[in-house]
Amino acid sequence: MPELETSAIVLRRSNYRDWDRMLTLFSPDYGLIDAVARGIRRPSARIRTAGEPFAAGQAALVVSGGRATLSGFELTEGFYPLREDYGRLTLAAYALNACGRVIQPSAPDPELFALLLGTLGRLAYTDRDGDELLARFLLTMMRGEGIAPTVRVCAKCGKDITDDVPAAGLRVSVPEGGICCGACAPYGRRVRAETLEWLRAAERAELDDVLPPFVSGAGDLLRVFFEGYGGRPRTSPRRG
Ligand SMILES: [Zn+2]
Repeated sequence: MPELETSAIVLRRSNYRDWDRMLTLFSPDYGLIDAVARGIRRPSARIRTAGEPFAAGQAALVVSGGRATLSGFELTEGFYPLREDYGRLTLAAYALNACGRVIQPSAPDPELFALLLGTLGRLAYTDRDGDELLARFLLTMMRGEGIAPTVRVCAKCGKDITDDVPAAGLRVSVPEGGICCGACAPYGRRVRAETLEWLRAAERAELDDVLPPFVSGAGDLLRVFFEGYGGRPRTSPRRG
């Protein structure tokens, strides 16, 4: 039986039989992996550290008949401080679930994996603004997946809108995939100049780059676009 070893983080888990769990793992090398974790709920289980979301480490998996079974797990990071702050835990869970929606089985995504771990680490171990961290995570993830909202040209007609600040006529259009000029989207939510400024600055920034002051409208806008995107359909039938 082929065995594979990979870094992984637990995205989801569900109980299964008396002592087992189904785990959904995100591996930078193999993308989404649904794995059975036999006996993981026994106190003596060697793999028990893999039992909860946010557990990150080295996983060993046995693959047989198209089914993966977790045979070993060495925890390197559990992001435990998140459990002590409900607000940050909620933001971290959003990032985790977002990855579960965009990654696919057998589709490596090391950039997104690194981004997720970097974001969770900063949420758990720094006092940086959590809403801003999640917004940076979402924007970078959406850019990597090719689903980020346009913020420099009208999403419909392609007209340059970078000089159109204070953005009086610009509006948000989820169906068009970004910010639209007033002619293309006469109705809908207007975009504030500060929101657009932050999004444009954050678009190509790393997690620790200095940006203009964060505006919550930018975070809200990114969530609206991400939730409107809906995610590609999962191809794996073995959802736990
Ligand atoms: Zn337009």
